[in-house]
Amino acid sequence: MSNSTLSPSATAPDTVHSAPYAELRKLVKEAATLESIGSLLSWDQETYMPKSAGDFRAEQASLISAMAHQKATDPRVGELLEACESDANLMGAAHSAEAANIREIRRDYELARKLPTDLVSELARATSLAQDAWKTARAKSDFATFRPHLEHVLSLTRRKAECYGVPKFNGRTGELYDALLDEYEPGMSAAEITEIFTPLGKRLSGLVADLVNGSQKVSLEPVKAKLPEAQQQTFGLEVLRAMGFDLNAGRLDVTTHPFCSGMAPGDTRLTTRYTSESFLEPLYGTMHEGGHGLYEQGLPKGTRFGEPLGRSVSLGIHESQSRMWENLVGRSRAFWEWALPVAKKHFGPAVGGLTLDSVYAAANYVERSFIRVEADEATYNLHIMLRFELERGLISGALPVADLPGEWNRRFKASFGLDVPDDAHGCLQDVHWSFGLIGYFPTYTLGNLYAAQFWEAINRDIPALDAQIRSGDFSSLLGWLRNHIHQHGRRYSASELCKRATGAALSPEPLMRNLEGKLRPLYGA
Ligand code: ZN
Repeated sequence: MSNSTLSPSATAPDTVHSAPYAELRKLVKEAATLESIGSLLSWDQETYMPKSAGDFRAEQASLISAMAHQKATDPRVGELLEACESDANLMGAAHSAEAANIREIRRDYELARKLPTDLVSELARATSLAQDAWKTARAKSDFATFRPHLEHVLSLTRRKAECYGVPKFNGRTGELYDALLDEYEPGMSAAEITEIFTPLGKRLSGLVADLVNGSQKVSLEPVKAKLPEAQQQTFGLEVLRAMGFDLNAGRLDVTTHPFCSGMAPGDTRLTTRYTSESFLEPLYGTMHEGGHGLYEQGLPKGTRFGEPLGRSVSLGIHESQSRMWENLVGRSRAFWEWALPVAKKHFGPAVGGLTLDSVYAAANYVERSFIRVEADEATYNLHIMLRFELERGLISGALPVADLPGEWNRRFKASFGLDVPDDAHGCLQDVHWSFGLIGYFPTYTLGNLYAAQFWEAINRDIPALDAQIRSGDFSSLLGWLRNHIHQHGRRYSASELCKRATGAALSPEPLMRNLEGKLRPLYGA
C-alpha cells in the first residue's frame, strides 16, 4: 500500500493550536495508558499466568481499572471539554479531527462519569475471578460452580446499565439491555437488532436446511490430520505475514479462547489454539484474530493513542475486519490456490494428497453443530441469535441464571434440532459472560453483515482482487481497508462509515448473496 492511496484528512495532525485541547489529549492518553496496563495483565492471565496467581491478579485488575476510571472521570477533563466546545476554531467542521475527537471524548466522559469507581473496580475484580471459575467449570462441564459467579457479574452488569440509563431512540424509550449494547455498538438498539435478526434467521435456517439436504455431499475427511503445533504455528505466521500483519509490532500466542488485544502503540497481540482434528480451524482462528489485529495496527495510534480517533469505531466494525479475512478471503477458492502449496510446504506428506477442490469444499463445510467458534458461515449467525435472546432475558430478569442451561438447551433444540449433551457444549462454551460482556454477541452478526457489504464494494473498487489473492498478494485489499476503515478511528459512526465506504446503509442482502452464491453450488442445493 502506498501513502498516496490515503485520503488526506484522516491521519493528518490537528491543525488548530489550543492549550485546552492539547491538555485534554494528554489526559485522555494517560487514562488509556493505565487501561493498556490492564490489558497487558488480562492478556497475561489468558496466556502465561500461573494458576495460583488468579486471586492477586483480580486485585491488580481491580486497582488498575479504578485508577484508569478516576483518570478518565477527572473533573479537569470536563473543564477542558467545555473550553474546547466553546472554541469555534476547534469545532468548525463536523468531521474535522478536532471536532470528532472532542465529540467522542465528551461521549466517553459522560458515560464514564455515570459509573461510580467502586462499581468499576468491583466489576474488574468479579470478572477476573469469574474468568478463572468459568475455565474450571467449562473443563468439567459443571454449571453449578460457575453459577454464583455469573449471578454476581450479572447483578453488577445490570447495575452498570442502570447507571448508564435506558437510552431513547428517536423519542422511543429503549430497554435496559440497550444501555449495554450502546457500549459496543453505539446507536444500535435491541429492537433494531431484532428487526434485522428475525428475517435473517429465517432465511439462514432455510438455506442451512437446503444445504444439508443438497444433492452433493461435502467431506471433512481430506483435511483431517493431526499436525504438530509447531508446524501449524509457522504456517499461521506465514499467512499472517502475507495478510500484512506486522510481527515486529505484534505476537501470536496460544490460549483457550482466541482473542486479539491491540493494547498499545506497536503492540497488538493475537492468540489462537491448536486443538482441532484439522489444520483449518486453527488457521481460521489465526486469520480471524489477524483481521482484528490489522485493524488495530491500522489505527493511527502512533500519534493518537487513547484518543477516539486512534480507537476502533464499534465492535461490529471490528468484527467485520476479522470475519472478512477469515471467511471472505480465507474460505475463497482464490485464497486456496495460493495457500494450498504453502500448507504443503509446512505440513509435508501429511497433506500431500489434498487437492484444491477438496480443501475448498472442506473450508466451506456446513453442519449444524454445538460450538459457535467452530461453526460455519451459514449456521454461525443462528448461534448469535440464540445468545442475543438469552442475554436479553438475563438482563431484563425474565430469565433467571438458574434456568439458563435448560433454556439454552430448549432453544438450541428448536433452532438446530440437536440435543445439547452437556453444558460445556451449551451455555458454558463462551467466555463472554464471565467477562461481563453482555450486549456484545449481536455485534458478531453485525460484523458478518458489514464484512459482506464491504466485500462487494472492495470487489467493485479492485476488479483484479481475485487474481491478486490467487498469487498471495493482499496489499491492495489491505490498502482499501486502511483507507476506508482503519485510519478513521471513531471519526464517523459505524453507520456513516458503512455508507461512506459502500455507498449504502447496512443491509443483509450482500451476506445472503455471498452465502447463497458460494454454498448452493457446492452442495447442489
Ligand atoms: Zn472476532
